[in-house]
Amino acid sequence: MSDAPVPILMYHSVAAVPNDATRALSVTPEAFAEQMALIGDLGLTPVTTADLAAHWRSGRPLPARPVLVTFDDGYEGVHRHALPVLARHGFPATLFVSTGWLRGAHDTGGGLDTMLDWGQVRALAAAGVEIGGHSHTHPQLDQLGDDALRTELTRCTEIVAAELGARPVSFAYPYGYSSRRVRQAVRAAGYAQALAVGNALARRRQGPYALERVTVRRTTGAEEFARLLLGRAVTRAFAGDRALTKGYALVRRVRQVRQIRQVRQVRRKAIRSRV
Ligand SMILES: [Zn+2]
Repeated sequence: MSDAPVPILMYHSVAAVPNDATRALSVTPEAFAEQMALIGDLGLTPVTTADLAAHWRSGRPLPARPVLVTFDDGYEGVHRHALPVLARHGFPATLFVSTGWLRGAHDTGGGLDTMLDWGQVRALAAAGVEIGGHSHTHPQLDQLGDDALRTELTRCTEIVAAELGARPVSFAYPYGYSSRRVRQAVRAAGYAQALAVGNALARRRQGPYALERVTVRRTTGAEEFARLLLGRAVTRAFAGDRALTKGYALVRRVRQVRQIRQVRQVRRKAIRSRV
C-alpha cells in the first residue's frame, strides 16, 4: 500500500486584526482564501482527519492528492471567515476544540481571543467540518497526573458529545506534542487518532496517535505555502523568475497555468468533436 506523505495544515485564528496572544499563529482572511484557492487550483482533495485515518486503517486508497485543513483551539474567525471559504470550495476540514475555552455554558475563561460559541460549532459541523477534541482547558498534558489527565480528556469528549450528539474521534495535542502516557490516555478516552506538530508531512507509518502537521503562520507567504503542500518541486519550476517567488504572484501564476491547461483541453475537445 502507498505510504505517500499527506500535508496536514495546522491553522489557529483567522483574523484581520488578531490580538498579541494569537497574532503569530493567525492568518488574515485574505491569506486563508488565497491558500484555499491554491489548494483547489492545484487539484488537491481536502479530507477530514477521521477520513484520512480510516483510509489508512482499512488500506482503501485515498482520493488523489489528499490534504487536511485543521484548526486548533476554536477561534471565532473560523466560523466568520474560514467557513464561507470552505463552503465555497466544498472543502471538508477539522476543528479541534478546547471545550473550556469556547463561549457559553462550559467556559472556563481561558480562551486567548474571541472564541466560537456552540451554535457556531454546530454550524461548522453541519457544513462538513469534523469536530475533534483538544482537551478541556488546554494544559500541557504530559505535566498532569493521571487523574487530571483523564479528566481533561473525558470532560472534552463528554461536552462535545452532549453539544453535538456525536463523540469526537480525533484529537490534537495542546502545544503539539505528547508522551507515551498521554498517547495511551488519549486512546483510552476513545479517540481513534491524534495529531501532533512536526513540521513534516503525515505518513501512515507515524502511527495513528502521532500524525505530524505543518504550521501555517501569519508570515507564511505563498511560496512557503506551496512548499508545505507540494514540496520543493513546484517552487523550483518557477525559480527563474524572482518576481514570481514573492507574495501571491506565485499563487496567481499557478492559477494561470491551470487555466491555460483548461483552455487547451476545451480546444482539444472542440477539435475532436469536429472530426
Ligand atoms: Zn491549541
